Amino acid sequence: MIIETNSPQETFEVAKKLAGEAKAGDIYALSGDLGAGKTLFTQGFAKGLGIDEIVNSPTFTILQIYESGVMPLFHFDVYRIADIDEMDEIGYEEYFYSDGVCIIEWASMIEELLPLHYTKINISRDDEKGFDYRKIEIKKV
Ligand code: ADP
Ligand code: MG
Repeated sequence: MIIETNSPQETFEVAKKLAGEAKAGDIYALSGDLGAGKTLFTQGFAKGLGIDEIVNSPTFTILQIYESGVMPLFHFDVYRIADIDEMDEIGYEEYFYSDGVCIIEWASMIEELLPLHYTKINISRDDEKGFDYRKIEIKKV
């Protein structure tokens, strides 16, 4: 599925709607350049799970957990991971195979740890289509 948006609000709404379909154990792997909208997408997704806390990029902590929604949301940002062992250190398996939902920014950096089935989301810009244009590709693998 490909969705095109022209404002942050639109991307937020797309993600919020998608969260309505999320089931426990689901993993959403986000990719896209810096500033593409991965964190913004996560904010909308969190909202869709009924989470009212402030959601920011957990770049310096790798993982942020939100438990105020209909199910736990495990928000990873693996951009600063230098070694895949750091994922073991935070005990990622407990979250990947859990009663919550995982959303992972820069997921391609830990591709070998992803389970067989997950939802791939790529967000990209196109300068010719304007500053706020984003193409959001959603694909279940
Ligand atoms: P990332 O986490 O991918 O580095 P962020 O979500 O932190 O990116 O930032 C995305 C930025 O792009 C925000 O400042 C947001 O307001 C802006 N933006 C502009 N248009 C869009 C759009 N259509 N969808 C998402 N973000 C957009
Ligand atoms: Mg981010």
